[in-house]
Amino acid sequence: MERRPAELPKGAAAAKPSHSAVTRTPRVATFDVPQASVDEPVDSHSGLGERYRDGAIITGSTPHRLILFTFDDGPDRRTTPLLLDRLDEAGVRAVFFLVASRFDENTPAERQDAAVAREIVKRGHLVGNHTLDHAQLPLLDEEAALHQIVTAERLFEKVYGARPWLFRPPFGAHSPRINSLLAERGYTTLLWNLGSGDFQVRSADEVFEIWRKMFERRELEGDRGGVILLHDTYAWSVDAFQRIVSHLRSRNCALLDEGEELFDFVDDPSLFFVPRADGDASMLAPPLVLAPDELAARQARLRETEVLRCRLLASGG
Ligand SMILES: [Zn+2]
Repeated sequence: MERRPAELPKGAAAAKPSHSAVTRTPRVATFDVPQASVDEPVDSHSGLGERYRDGAIITGSTPHRLILFTFDDGPDRRTTPLLLDRLDEAGVRAVFFLVASRFDENTPAERQDAAVAREIVKRGHLVGNHTLDHAQLPLLDEEAALHQIVTAERLFEKVYGARPWLFRPPFGAHSPRINSLLAERGYTTLLWNLGSGDFQVRSADEVFEIWRKMFERRELEGDRGGVILLHDTYAWSVDAFQRIVSHLRSRNCALLDEGEELFDFVDDPSLFFVPRADGDASMLAPPLVLAPDELAARQARLRETEVLRCRLLASGG
């Protein structure tokens, strides 16, 4: 949509949580929805993330090489379908934060966007609320802010049969007042720690370079992975997605040789999820630290597939 005033969420500096890290064992990272085949009936509800209700604010901070892709501002009939194919090719599932006015189904274009919205969930991705029309919520009074959130929910219900439970505030702009409103409605807010600046540029190369610099800065700060933000409304972001995946997968081949932790493309926010404590609407989730056995099990499974892939790559296959 429009250009963003800033790449990082407001409070992104504050979004470096001060809580001490906790060790926890996440739920198993799988989706229940049917995958790939467009002919299968869709259980839309599983794509709406009800199991993520009432969580602390997720910042994406993690000392592990866990990567979760998120895409904002769609659905867009011009760009999202290609991204869905690219995600399938890469074997990656993501979270899409949708601007609900796009799929109001009042015009032919909106009906097409609604079909794309359904397809996102059919392909096994999660969807979340990104407001009715991309409003900067802290600038609105309570009634207007609620209108943005609740009217969007009604449109989600029209398209999917139920409301979503993940939320991302446009521009990352939130405040204690907005956090309370969202908490009252059971939302878990998912921010990001790996921006891409894709709203400021016009090519996949530029997006990739901005992302890579951000990624390296975060690594120096102690985040070796996290939540990536791209916009599925830009053709160059669809291409940049592939570049980012290739970059991290080629790093995996080097990390394999060194016996280091590999980059793990995760498809489930529960790896970052911490339940919200009662009455604490604005609690930031502490940086995720996986239980050692959970991390070892994930890495062992990953190494098996990466060894084969890297061998193929090395042999030019
Ligand atoms: Zn947005």
